[in-house]
Amino acid sequence: MNYKNAFIYTEDFKFVSGGFSVEDGKFCDVLIEKEDAVDFRGAYVIPGLIDVHNHGNSNADFSDGSYEGDVKMARYLAGVGVTSFAPATMTLPYEVIAKALEAGLRLKNTPEAGCARLLGVQMEGPFFSEKKKGAQNGEYLRLPDFAAFRRLYEDSEGLISIVDLAPELEGSVEFVERAKALCTVSIAHTDSDYEHAKAAIDAGVTHLTHLYNAMPPIHHRKPGVIGAASENEAVSAELICDGIHVHPASVRMAFKLFGAERMVLISDALRCCGMPDGEYELGGQQVFLAENVARLADGTIAGSATNLFDCMRNAVRFGIPREDAIRAATWNPARQIHALDRVGSIANGKLADFVVCDAELNRKAVWLGGKEL
Ligand SMILES: [Zn+2]
Repeated sequence: MNYKNAFIYTEDFKFVSGGFSVEDGKFCDVLIEKEDAVDFRGAYVIPGLIDVHNHGNSNADFSDGSYEGDVKMARYLAGVGVTSFAPATMTLPYEVIAKALEAGLRLKNTPEAGCARLLGVQMEGPFFSEKKKGAQNGEYLRLPDFAAFRRLYEDSEGLISIVDLAPELEGSVEFVERAKALCTVSIAHTDSDYEHAKAAIDAGVTHLTHLYNAMPPIHHRKPGVIGAASENEAVSAELICDGIHVHPASVRMAFKLFGAERMVLISDALRCCGMPDGEYELGGQQVFLAENVARLADGTIAGSATNLFDCMRNAVRFGIPREDAIRAATWNPARQIHALDRVGSIANGKLADFVVCDAELNRKAVWLGGKEL
């Protein structure tokens, strides 16, 4: 199928007018306009978004370990233009994490029609600090344990694409040195000072999970995790851009501090995403959703109820240039989970997952593998 008269978001991270074709579910002849083509009438075409940190939606949570739930999640995501994802586990017993990975692997290997592609998993916990556990369940916290991680990694055929840890915990540097050969290693849920964070980054950490949230703030004499991550070009930072977890000015500050090439927008969405206000469950704890904010009983913000497409639009609303916001929701997350060979941009040979929008990024239609949903 051929398409023409579109503004295509290219690998130069800007819009270029032209057309493209799709063959066998993949892009080809990108920027070439053919006569016999569907006319997009000046619409904006962006790559399908990639959420590398979300727990659930539609009343399903990845940690439930339910294949049917994962299918529900993946269908919702594809429908809102998030055509690939790496769902996140939680701080839970290893056998519960293993069950979630097993269900995820089944979805990856036998995708159902209309499902976003499950490209990996972010293992969020249990190697976290008690003090910054946030909405993670303190009962299941553990010190970094490479043998336990490797078992989960191998049993799931390498499904884990990002593993998180708090760098101040005993054994964290050794863990990073060994885990980095298998997947991306990220700092998260930490009370670390600058020195411990820098040591972990020097050992091979290249990712920072939800910048600002569940870590000490920046202090001019205690630059902490944020200071250590920002000054190392190898580290990219996730940002929850639901308008609740991070103030708009702090969103702008993050893009200045890290640069658009190192920002990764995420949803961190919970099972209440795409659901009405009410009471839900998260890692064995109650969560209350009201006016788009999900909180634990004690008032702690638990996660978001906003999908990544809306987070990307929020970023633009907060003053991030449109092209930078798109990059942070497509190319950058694909790079962090080592999936740039298949997704993350509109380029010849990549999977034809794309979203047709207007100039304000209002979503009009979603294509998955070259088929309109
Ligand atoms: Zn999370």
